Amino acid sequence: MTWNWKLIESNCTGCGVCFDVCSYKVILMSREMPYPEAIPDKCNGCMECVKECPFDAIEVDEA
Ligand code: SF4
Ligand code: SF4
Repeated sequence: MTWNWKLIESNCTGCGVCFDVCSYKVILMSREMPYPEAIPDKCNGCMECVKECPFDAIEVDEA
């Protein structure tokens, strides 16, 4: 099963919580990146980032 990871940029503050909570190291962030990105096809749909994002900026659904 594959999952679509989608960022709602207008909600994202770049706080980094999603980067910290993804146990599978799917989410990438760096000083050079204004927003987090997910490595394509690596997300397993655990929903941890969706639950923990304080600004409701992530949507994950089945591809
Ligand atoms: S936790 Fe939410 S607001 Fe914070 S960087 Fe991730 S997507 Fe953006
Ligand atoms: S749903 Fe789970 S595996 Fe996918 S990016 Fe979020 S925390 Fe990582």
